[in-house]
Amino acid sequence: MIPLRLKSECDRSLAPFVVRIATGEPQGSSDAQLVIEEPNRLGFQATDGDFHIHNIAPTEIDGDVLLVDPRRQIAHRLIRAGSPHNTFLITEQCDQLCVMCSQPPKAHHEDMFAYFLAAARLAPTGTCIGLSGGEPLLHKKELFDFIEASFADRDDLSFHILTNGQHFERDDLPWLRKHRSRLLWGIPIYSDDPSIHDDIVGKPGAFAQLTQNLSLMGLAGAAVELRTVVMTPNVAGLTMLADFISRHIPFATTWAIMQMERIGYGRMNWARCFFDSSVDFKELGSAIDLMRARNQDIALYNFPLCTVPPAYRQYAAQSISDWKQKYLAACATCQLRSRCSGVFEWYRMEDGFMEIHSQ
Ligand code: SF4
Repeated sequence: MIPLRLKSECDRSLAPFVVRIATGEPQGSSDAQLVIEEPNRLGFQATDGDFHIHNIAPTEIDGDVLLVDPRRQIAHRLIRAGSPHNTFLITEQCDQLCVMCSQPPKAHHEDMFAYFLAAARLAPTGTCIGLSGGEPLLHKKELFDFIEASFADRDDLSFHILTNGQHFERDDLPWLRKHRSRLLWGIPIYSDDPSIHDDIVGKPGAFAQLTQNLSLMGLAGAAVELRTVVMTPNVAGLTMLADFISRHIPFATTWAIMQMERIGYGRMNWARCFFDSSVDFKELGSAIDLMRARNQDIALYNFPLCTVPPAYRQYAAQSISDWKQKYLAACATCQLRSRCSGVFEWYRMEDGFMEIHSQ
């Protein structure tokens, strides 16, 4: 697994600071210049403090944006220059309790926006940064201010924001309209049956609020990526959900049907929720057919290609972030590997897909 936190050494009395790694000539005062290169240990000089990091090669982190935390002696890789998968965890608080949540909510919130803004300013040209939680819009004012400030400095950045869609208001319309070309909102919907959706997210009334707010997103002309994790509790209604989306949310940019991630509540509830689409793709195929017939975009996220019938493989995206992606022994000889998302780092053969074979 690609490390996102690096062991670091730094004067513990310093305040945390954000720097960009420069193994060559520094480009500005926010760059940390490589001054010591030893086996398993690199030394850097930066305006806010000197520091060392361990067990990584200079070529692996050149251009990365780090948050150096002297108190914890850790450097967080907020942005990896060579990766398209960079996400800021805005908060671990959430007002839902989804059965498959990969990042179970916590009560405590640590405001990191100042660091995120510093990091966004140092991001490589054209970066799309993911913003996730928890529920980022629980801190809506701070979130919107952060996005506004990032865009004020960098007209090349964009954000992909994962939100449960519960916290938009009519007053947000001007702001949503203003930034619609640079924001993609990933919003989950699990069923067209309000009781099934509410059960999955653990919040009575969530479906009613979600659909009301999706209408606002439509009014704003916002780019929306609907997301549905397919599970035992909702798989039977997938075609009906496709029909609901195509009739009521036709402005959605895409609809992503996703496989579960076996971590957090997803691990706890795996046995009762994981739906093995490698042995039964009928309902998924029917939902995809309906969306295509109505000329609406569809994607499959987190599906190993060999688990998808050949006719539907064109919809499978390489959606698993590089730092938590792995391949199995069978993948070593597979001709599809370069196009396949593989599986999550925490995937287990013994309770995963029945049909996963080299192609
Ligand atoms: S065998 Fe591995 S690489 Fe090939 S399609 Fe399956 S999961 Fe992907």
